[in-house]
Amino acid sequence: QGSLMLMVQIFPYGENRKLLLSQDITILKKNESMRQDFVANVSHELRTPLTVVSGFLETLRDLKISKVDQSRYVDLMYAQTSRMMTLVEELLILTRLDSSPLTSKTTKVIVEDLFDKLLVDAKSLSQGKHLIEANCSLKMAILGSDSELLSAFGNLIVNAIRYTPEGGKIIFEWKSDQDGGGVFFVKDSGIGIASEHIPRITERFYRVDRSRSRDTGGTGLGLAIVKHVASRHNAVLKIESELAVGSDFSIHFPKDRLVELN
Ligand code: ADP
Repeated sequence: QGSLMLMVQIFPYGENRKLLLSQDITILKKNESMRQDFVANVSHELRTPLTVVSGFLETLRDLKISKVDQSRYVDLMYAQTSRMMTLVEELLILTRLDSSPLTSKTTKVIVEDLFDKLLVDAKSLSQGKHLIEANCSLKMAILGSDSELLSAFGNLIVNAIRYTPEGGKIIFEWKSDQDGGGVFFVKDSGIGIASEHIPRITERFYRVDRSRSRDTGGTGLGLAIVKHVASRHNAVLKIESELAVGSDFSIHFPKDRLVELN
């Protein structure tokens, strides 16, 4: 970390002279190593459910297995397949975010309309186990992509529910920011995040507790998507959290991203 990597090439140059070319390849090397990590992570994430499915298929070959067990195995394989599908969907979203510019897809996004869908989805995920509140006090729309914003806001809400024990409270809001911009804010009263993890949780596949995330259907890609979408809208993702108290996630949109509703 902090060290410089140079590629040095020496060419003969005239009589008894040499030309020395040196190139800083620190970023190239870093990108290459990030790419390798990413491929290793994806392979690992897919291998685990595939191993489970292939194990059950092997067992199902045994014709003596009872009908009850058969259907239990099929359910378990279905769950693993859904996991893989979510992972692939999220990878495709990230790839699309990486490769296409936002400008071609910008429309006037009415946050109130997104809130209707977000609230229905949040309640269905929580299944009545949390108190969920939504406030849309800022009467301004966002210039951006509605599908991307829906996915970013949705990811923050899903996390709030996922990492908040039964009986906890989740609030999400669209309100004005101090500097005249707008902020999408999600607060939960959940397990919280220790301060040393906060700078890393937006990295792809970084999770504080891998098994907890897996058990609740997490892929470790949600916050990477949120951060990407925010930056494509010139917005900033902020995270504040306290262990066993809860977390605040907010996306701050600058004034020039907001437009009048009518
Ligand atoms: P995951 O699919 O694992 O939820 P994310 O990228 O959405 O992946 O989040 C990364 C990690 O950040 C999670 O695994 C979890 O450890 C932590 N995290 C995210 N949101 C919250 C939250 N609201 N409360 C506590 N921890 C959270």
